[in-house]
Amino acid sequence: MPTSPFAPLNPRERILMGPGPSTVPARILRAMSAPTLGHLDPQFIEYMDETCQLIREVYQTKNLLSFPVSGTGMAGMEAIATNLIEPGDEVIVCINGVFGGRMKDNMERCGATVHTIEVPWGATFDKEAIAEAVQKYPKAKLVGIVHAETSTGAHQDLSGLAEIVHDAKMLLVVDAVTSLGGHELKVDEWGIDAIYSGTQKCLSCPPGLSPVSFSDRAIARIDARKTKVQSWYFDVSMLKNYYTGDGGRAYHHTAPINMIYALRESLAIVVEEGLQNRITRHREMHLLLREGLEALGFCYIPQHSLHTLNCVALPEGIDDAAIRSRLLNEFDIEIGGGLGIFAGKAWRIGLMGHSATKRNVRTLLAALGECI
Ligand SMILES: *Cc1c(COP(=O)(O)O)cnc(C)c1O
Repeated sequence: MPTSPFAPLNPRERILMGPGPSTVPARILRAMSAPTLGHLDPQFIEYMDETCQLIREVYQTKNLLSFPVSGTGMAGMEAIATNLIEPGDEVIVCINGVFGGRMKDNMERCGATVHTIEVPWGATFDKEAIAEAVQKYPKAKLVGIVHAETSTGAHQDLSGLAEIVHDAKMLLVVDAVTSLGGHELKVDEWGIDAIYSGTQKCLSCPPGLSPVSFSDRAIARIDARKTKVQSWYFDVSMLKNYYTGDGGRAYHHTAPINMIYALRESLAIVVEEGLQNRITRHREMHLLLREGLEALGFCYIPQHSLHTLNCVALPEGIDDAAIRSRLLNEFDIEIGGGLGIFAGKAWRIGLMGHSATKRNVRTLLAALGECI
């Protein structure tokens, strides 16, 4: 046997407390290593159906068109933008950080004229601002907003927005990448028309899939399109034949089989824990971390902080890169630096899914106490 020129793969077991990925439980990694089935194998179709049903359950929706887009959270964003927008459409996007900015860029690339409303980084939008925007841009087809802005740690209240948006005959589009499985999120009750998330944040699954859901209103909009969806890969008029079984299970692209196993396992873990218990756990761990960080002299940047992502300003005299690399090298703990205009000025500490434990919070606080 020739010997391999490559060293064996041996990644360290880090405590992942950055903006994602979060630590993946062994149970999910084991599920991923199960034998690969064919994507049209009846046994796999059953797993896929269960996965879609679990997505509905965790999103708290009855939407039939709920499925995992093949790709990370950004693929979910693109899938929604490309299906809901036709060239020349007007849309409204709310920007209070990096991900609202990406939504704008994404929708512009779909040919939309994007009207933006902005508040400072760390702030969130009140209903009056949304109402004003839909009045100012009455021809807009949709309003896009980020539920959990991972670049600033701001938690956007979504309740009551749908009434305003729907009264103006627009759709409500939501980025829930850092909230699904960690924060209250009620797709049907809150009237959300299209929503995307990711696997590697509060679901604690490896990155690679984007659970999405489309309301009947959104599907009606897609059905009424005059032009073909520009993206072949993300065209839900074709994808739904595979994921929802309309007209048999037609081949579109090969489903990422073992990633589906992982997502199914991660969603099963959420349901076993209980969605409400899990949301409570995230809140409690956030409060515990917050108490410790504030005692160490850190200030939270957002007024309404996420539980899943803690964004704090760096106090004077703290060496951002040096401390983060000490945390990584001496303690095997990853936290995130600032993103965009917060680069070098803030830290982003994730408490997502499997990473949101008392043990991790205490370990990080003790390590920080030693480093600063
Ligand atoms: C992480 C994240 C994304 C992008 O997800 P990827 O999996 O990195 O493609 C989008 N929106 C928000 C709010 C995020 O936190």
